[in-house]
Amino acid sequence: MLQYTYLIVGGGMTADAAAQGIREVDANGTIGLVGAEPHPPYNRPPLSKALWKGDPEESIWRKTAATGAQLTLGRRVTAIDPRGHTATDDRGTVYRFEKLLLATGGLPRRLPAQSDAVIYFRTLEDYHRLRGLAGEGARCAVIGGGFIGSEIAAALRMQSRDVTMLVPEAGLGARVFPADLTAFLVDYYRHKGVLMRMGEGMTGLEQRGGAWAVRTTTGAELMAEVVVAGLGIVPAVELAQQAGLRVENGIVVDAFCRTSQPDVYAAGDVANFANRALGEGTRLRVEHEDNANAMGRVAGLNMAGRATRYDHLPFFYSDLFELGYEAVGDVDARLETVADWKEPFREGVVYYLKDGRVRGALLWNTWGQVDHARALIAEPGPFRPGDLKGRLPR
Ligand SMILES: Cc1cc2nc3c(=O)[nH]c(=O)nc-3n(C[C@H](O)[C@H](O)[C@H](O)COP(=O)(O)OP(=O)(O)OC[C@H]3O[C@@H](n4cnc5c(N)ncnc54)[C@H](O)[C@@H]3O)c2cc1C
Repeated sequence: MLQYTYLIVGGGMTADAAAQGIREVDANGTIGLVGAEPHPPYNRPPLSKALWKGDPEESIWRKTAATGAQLTLGRRVTAIDPRGHTATDDRGTVYRFEKLLLATGGLPRRLPAQSDAVIYFRTLEDYHRLRGLAGEGARCAVIGGGFIGSEIAAALRMQSRDVTMLVPEAGLGARVFPADLTAFLVDYYRHKGVLMRMGEGMTGLEQRGGAWAVRTTTGAELMAEVVVAGLGIVPAVELAQQAGLRVENGIVVDAFCRTSQPDVYAAGDVANFANRALGEGTRLRVEHEDNANAMGRVAGLNMAGRATRYDHLPFFYSDLFELGYEAVGDVDARLETVADWKEPFREGVVYYLKDGRVRGALLWNTWGQVDHARALIAEPGPFRPGDLKGRLPR
């Protein structure tokens, strides 16, 4: 049996941030980290961006070992007993803890058509596999027009690969961007040489010669050597469910990252938390880096005895060829949007409004405005669309 003051289940960015947070408060308590991947924690965002632009792979590693945490890698925790303060992994090793953090993140959503040929892009292994398969001359089919699909398609195209996107929606990033911006992005990707098949999803796959025939929802087919999908994630909540923790679109935590069981915390992509910045009663589950870092740290501080509220309003960012953005708050395309372009679709700000309040801001090729956007979201309003022109410097 292994015994730790703090046990962290999960080996991602949240896990690392939590270990660092614990060490800010407690220099001596022992930290154990169990991660299912064979690697120590690393930054995921470069897997679909910087590594394709020439950044070295060594740049992704986080410095978890410097916290003194003992890392048990390539192992999956299969059961936790919050009352007994134990966790068990897939080889039967039992870990005793005083405080436990669930930082299990999410699993890629999969297509009904079962096939190992599809790379559901999430991990360093997926990156290696894609890099290995997508050599010169490879035809690449990218399924899904959200965040990951759009980034991977751009990354492959920038390697001069032949890329086709199958996107069930009418535009790119349709859940986040206003309709005119999603339509612009489709044209922009076409202009970059990506074959855009909009309103078309994948239904099946069949090996034909050295390639895959991808069948689509319109009954058509396309041939590709590489099939990669970005369809979002589902939070990895099985452990929490099995242990009787409250789960509702993620593991439900309070303002201090505590779950419904004493001494058990959750943070990062898997956690569902209240966010006062968007109004009392608003709950979020955020699948982005800033949240993983900030929430992981706060969970670590609190596990080690602090009482720090997690009131941070996270932002996220993405790069699509030469375009890039940062987004703060609730950027949901179903909200009322007000665009304030300096140059249409190239540079500007899109505001998201609900009941006269700004709920979110999309900072499109507009940098250094995240804190100003947070301040605007905190203002009670009411705002009329005209009030927002020039509100954030573009
Ligand atoms: C390719 C890619 C690009 C991204 N780019 C951006 C970006 O540009 N901007 C941005 O804001 N965000 C980005 N993100 C999102 C960001 O990386 C995630 O929000 C962040 O990784 C979440 O960290 P996490 O530690 O909470 O969860 P995860 O990263 O999912 O890590 C969870 C870890 O726990 C392990 N695990 C799960 N269950 C168990 C178990 N039972 N036992 C042991 N280990 C377990 C998993 O194997 C995994 O290693 C990107 C994500 C990907 C995949």
